Amino acid sequence: MASPHPESPAGRLAPPLRLQSKPLRQPQPEPSLGEILRRNGVSRRGFLKFCAATATLMALPPSMVPAIAAALETARRPSVIWLSFQECTGCTESLTRSVSPTVENLILDTISLDYHHTLQAAAGEAAEHAREEAMNANQGQYILVVDGSLPGPDANPGYSTIAGISNYEMLMDTVKGAAAVVAVGTCAAFGGLPKADPNPSGAVAVQDLVKDKPVINVSGCPPLPMVITGVLAQFLTFGKLPELDEYRRPLAFFGQAIHDRCYRRPFYDKGLFAESFDDKGAKAGWCLYRLGCKGPMAYNACATMKWNSGASWPIESGAPCLGCSEPNFWDAGGFYDALSVPPGRPGEALLTAGALGAALGAAAGALGRRKVKTAGLAHQAVTADQLEQQL
Ligand code: SF4
Ligand code: SF4
Repeated sequence: MASPHPESPAGRLAPPLRLQSKPLRQPQPEPSLGEILRRNGVSRRGFLKFCAATATLMALPPSMVPAIAAALETARRPSVIWLSFQECTGCTESLTRSVSPTVENLILDTISLDYHHTLQAAAGEAAEHAREEAMNANQGQYILVVDGSLPGPDANPGYSTIAGISNYEMLMDTVKGAAAVVAVGTCAAFGGLPKADPNPSGAVAVQDLVKDKPVINVSGCPPLPMVITGVLAQFLTFGKLPELDEYRRPLAFFGQAIHDRCYRRPFYDKGLFAESFDDKGAKAGWCLYRLGCKGPMAYNACATMKWNSGASWPIESGAPCLGCSEPNFWDAGGFYDALSVPPGRPGEALLTAGALGAALGAAAGALGRRKVKTAGLAHQAVTADQLEQQL
């Protein structure tokens, strides 16, 4: 029998015990991008500069900056699940070398990177649990980023597994709830090095397998970090994916050949070519076409965005473009063979290439100059002061 409540006078019922529950915590709405940036100490002025840079990245005119600022201010964090398959981690290295603090914030703080094989702290079962949680919580809304190619459905699934799950099974399972897929790097976009002849693992690209979701290819070996963040920023800003070229690459970044923006182009136009890496022409900065430069057929933004915080880029460092952003670039001939040099007949072909270079260069140069002029008109400079007055 229960003893009476110690403070209860005899004959009186003890008051019923009440559970002292704390008020239920209401789920907090996800902070907007603008709120997160302010919390991280990004000033209004810094934010506007970021919006102007984003407009430039997307090849949009300054008149679009207010719309970008308004959209980013209120944008919510999309969930990003990042799967790494047959790759060398160069693409992730490239992303984490993204130097502009606002862009880094955008990727690593603002975007909810819910699952990333390389960057996440969780391992083993906890990591797989994080992937399932992120998928369940954001069904139909998360962006799936993939780097690396993967053994196709006809290959031995054991060639590449994570947590005992084949790459193929993990991709097909994760893609079901994705809003879109971004294939980062040439391996994910086109198969890359693992797919190079004789392709021992039966590697295929993401777009070979995913047919019912939008796939955007951000190719490059590795891709430019600003291009990775630019694509995600565009999704954040407009809630839709960018316009793509025939290889599903964003036109804003892959719309022009390296050759169209190369600062060595005037030498190509005049038929002045370096013949070796240490000759007079190389020292004078002449065109690297005869040393194997693939710039005329490679589409990427290296010439304008450059690498390592805009410090330099391969051609500026004296190396020819290898065409790393193009399909099958590993199997497309020697890195240091000129584009039109058939094996065994270099002398004759080089002469032809030189003559053609001078003639075609003059016509292409005029076209290129027109393009640059048009692009210049569309992308007039805008200052942070002007933006602050407009907004
Ligand atoms: S061939 Fe290469 S080095 Fe020469 S102008 Fe074109 S991109 Fe530049
Ligand atoms: S310059 Fe050419 S090879 Fe080098 S990163 Fe750019 S596209 Fe790739």
